[in-house]
Amino acid sequence: MIEDAEHRDFLSNPEIIKNYLTLQQIGVFKHIDKLHKDIKDCRNLLSGAVDIFNKTTIDEILDAAVWKISDQFLPSFITFLWKPHRNREDLTIKSYKDHKLVDLDVPIRTIVPFEDFFRSFPKPIAYEIFAYQLKDSVAPGVLQPLEQLNPEILIPIMGPSGLYGIVMVGRKMLVEGYTLEELFFLEQIMSFLSQAIQNHLHYEDSVRDVKTGLFNHGYFMNRLNEEVARTKREAEVSSLLVMDVDNFKKFNDTYGHLAGDRILESLASTIKQSVRTEDIPSRFGGEEFTILLPNTPRQIAWLVAERLRDAVASMKVSWESPLPQVTISLGVVSFDNRTNASPDEIIKRADEALYQSKENGRNRTTVWGAGLLFRIQRGQHDSVSASA
Ligand code: GH3
Ligand code: MG
Ligand code: MG
Repeated sequence: MIEDAEHRDFLSNPEIIKNYLTLQQIGVFKHIDKLHKDIKDCRNLLSGAVDIFNKTTIDEILDAAVWKISDQFLPSFITFLWKPHRNREDLTIKSYKDHKLVDLDVPIRTIVPFEDFFRSFPKPIAYEIFAYQLKDSVAPGVLQPLEQLNPEILIPIMGPSGLYGIVMVGRKMLVEGYTLEELFFLEQIMSFLSQAIQNHLHYEDSVRDVKTGLFNHGYFMNRLNEEVARTKREAEVSSLLVMDVDNFKKFNDTYGHLAGDRILESLASTIKQSVRTEDIPSRFGGEEFTILLPNTPRQIAWLVAERLRDAVASMKVSWESPLPQVTISLGVVSFDNRTNASPDEIIKRADEALYQSKENGRNRTTVWGAGLLFRIQRGQHDSVSASA
């Protein structure tokens, strides 16, 4: 509003009116229009940056970038390819048409062959020029999936360790060709996107265990502290499961440490599949895992534990040859606003219950009760004296 008023004052300024024709002839008004447009573009870029940096998941970051780009012009598609893991080649691919996520059946498996090129030219580039430059230096067939997709522009996503993604933008709908301003806009939005994805990946690295992808010990401890405080405040009941692989040392000794690692990875994906999104599955250390179950009473926690125990016992894992079945023992503890125990004390109780499961023969779940340990095996429920 202020800007409009200033603009009106400017146009009704008698000096300006007097010299209107001269000002027009020497291009002052055109220049002012251009400045207005530049200001609008800068605001647009700034709001794009804010939108993108406010997002916490990769999907939200990509959505925000797609919306921002489509505000300016409408590409026939936008496809994002990126490496979710620093040291692995596998790619995640997301493609959007008309703001909507679409399936892409183009077999792009790696972006590694493009790394050297983008290191020396880390800028958006017309696909035609890119393909021309690379045709003699990459293996035949590497460019073919890109050819199939037929992008107009490629934009590299570069990080401190090199190329970790590429964005492909299709032809502009309605009007032909991208203008220099639009290319600049794309480049800027992509650099925000790149930074936001890097922040996200660094954050994930800091809270995840590398081997299993589950949360790490530090993150688990923070969340347990928060959850204990929350249950006190909100009069909720939550539970903690701890589990340990049975006779794992013997397994490693017989089949080797790498086969053991394969089991741990498989166990982690079984755990991930058996929990809700609000649960917090973590690798506590070695072959010990925890699952924090917010708003879950102990009967339900016990059911979750038993379901998981069954799932692990029937897990089929292939290594050089199929590996034998492994089992886990579990301990369950619940806490609410009447529980007078610190987070460390709660872990200690869950450990005591786990220890009881081991003592009683392994491959079973024990629930810690106030002063009593309830040994629970396959639905039968008999209490034993507390070992605490
Ligand atoms: P128990 O049934 O009493 O738990 O017997 P256990 O042999 O599993 O005993 P414990 O839990 O103390 O053993 C831990 C073993 O787990 C020792 C170590 O070889 C193995 N382990 C710990 N971390 C890893 C890992 O990252 N990879 C592999 N392969 N093995 C691990
Ligand atoms: Mg152990
Ligand atoms: Mg063990």
